[in-house]
Amino acid sequence: MKIARFLEDGTEKYGLIERDKVKAISGFPWEGLEVTGKEYSLESVKLLAPVQPQDVFAIGLNYRSHADETGMKYPTAPVIFIKASSSVIGPGDDIVLPKMAPNEVDYEAELVIVIGRTCKNVSEADALNYVLGYTCGNDVSARDCQLKLDAQWARGKSFDTFCPIGPWIETDIDPDNQPISLKLNGEVMQSSNTSDMIFNCSQIVSYCSQVATMKPGTIIMTGTPLGVGFARKEPVFLKAGDKVEVIIDGIGTLSNGVVK
Ligand code: MG
Repeated sequence: MKIARFLEDGTEKYGLIERDKVKAISGFPWEGLEVTGKEYSLESVKLLAPVQPQDVFAIGLNYRSHADETGMKYPTAPVIFIKASSSVIGPGDDIVLPKMAPNEVDYEAELVIVIGRTCKNVSEADALNYVLGYTCGNDVSARDCQLKLDAQWARGKSFDTFCPIGPWIETDIDPDNQPISLKLNGEVMQSSNTSDMIFNCSQIVSYCSQVATMKPGTIIMTGTPLGVGFARKEPVFLKAGDKVEVIIDGIGTLSNGVVK
């Protein structure tokens, strides 16, 4: 099932996508998925970030291939960091290069877990029962802030627009075996599979739930594979006019432009 959040007549709604239609539901998707009867053509509505999360958790260095390219050791437990929830944008929205740090803005294709039930101290075996579904994300990062200037990652990962997610939530995929890729202006920059993750989705949800109470709508970005811009022989950073697409086979394509 695909769950979207969209704007219709100036009102934010959630709905279920069926082929080229979106059928509105009442309330939040974690309260139930009752269709209210109104349906819209998918083309006619503006899709929003599929949730506006209370918290955005993210896992660093979670793909073997990405740890290898950065020359770092595999972590022995998930490395959690936090992005400001105000950095979330939706499909089609622009990533804005921040005035303060416009020169080393990088992309990171990620599978995003969307929590569907309040979640605290859950076991790995039970963890995925607390997940509503999965969406695509881009953990946009100002590398100069993250890696050179600051002793930690909060600023480099939290600029406004640095957390594109979407285009919708898919409820019925195996999150631990999905092809994931990223295209920059049509060129494939990252191409991997979520099976390369060091910690899988059950382990991540269980681990995060031992830290914080995760409310419905909380998202967890699960890390990025090989191919980020800064780790290339000729580093690649985002510039105005670029188009970035995150593609996860079982979900769809999240597409965002880049502006100054
Ligand atoms: Mg990341």
